[in-house]
Amino acid sequence: MFTFGPLNSRRFGLSLGIDLSPKEKSCNFDCVYCELEASKPVDSIKNPPLVKEVIKEVKEKLEKFPDIEVITITSNGEPTLYPYLDDLVNELNKIKQNKKLLILSNASTICDKSIKETLEKIDIVKLSLDCATSKCFKKIDRPLKGLDITHIISCMKDINPPTLVIEVLLVKGINDKVEEIEKLNQILQQIKPDRIDLGTIDRPPAYKVQKVDEEKIVELSKLFKNLPITIIRKNPPKTKEDFSKDEILNLLQHRPQSQFDVDTLFSDKSKEILTKMVNNKEVKKSDVGGVGFYRVN
Ligand code: SF4
Repeated sequence: MFTFGPLNSRRFGLSLGIDLSPKEKSCNFDCVYCELEASKPVDSIKNPPLVKEVIKEVKEKLEKFPDIEVITITSNGEPTLYPYLDDLVNELNKIKQNKKLLILSNASTICDKSIKETLEKIDIVKLSLDCATSKCFKKIDRPLKGLDITHIISCMKDINPPTLVIEVLLVKGINDKVEEIEKLNQILQQIKPDRIDLGTIDRPPAYKVQKVDEEKIVELSKLFKNLPITIIRKNPPKTKEDFSKDEILNLLQHRPQSQFDVDTLFSDKSKEILTKMVNNKEVKKSDVGGVGFYRVN
């Protein structure tokens, strides 16, 4: 089987997964937080499936589950190591109908011109960026020798898919320091992604590392200035807030809010005020990679 799901992904909608390395982990990173087992980084996928085999399965699933919203290219590892990625993307684009195509990549290969061009044909490209400094990158992502985060970041500034999402995964004691986050903030201001997902470990990791507390993530998220951050929360906030119109404006000026943030944080009264502000065009609601975002218009 090369497909799995559909699964309900809060970040991207009802998703059909495609696993391009179904037999074994094939990744050029060995991240401390990986939910797959630790393994030596490699630069290729062994026994990759054929494009026609994958497409046949995807067609069957699309027929069986017409509500699928997104087709997600992933792997037991790094999907851009798949040697026929360009062909696969071309074929998926032909059959995807009204679904979005999404890829989850660690960004390691985006400086390769042909991979960059392939990624730019995908509706939503989600790249990981855990650290802005080489020391931190090596400690958390444990990459294949020769991979350099400064070079990868320079290519992130160049890539231009329809929607670019950057995921930052925080690990206690490694990349949760204020200095690291401030450097990431500077870089993200230049990359200008459409959305940034900030999260932490939520499944057993490959190495003995720990998640960052939710309160700390909220604090750290404030260091990202005026960027479209969404915090990947397992547990929604316990209380809902009654915001005035001015408070909502102030909040949105500092940080655009995702639909999930609004659903879990805003009281019914605040939601009513927000809806009026959308209707009055003071606030703009847009869809970014399957997640609704509210910003000041
Ligand atoms: S990039 Fe993804 S698959 Fe590869 S080691 Fe890191 S978390 Fe695991």
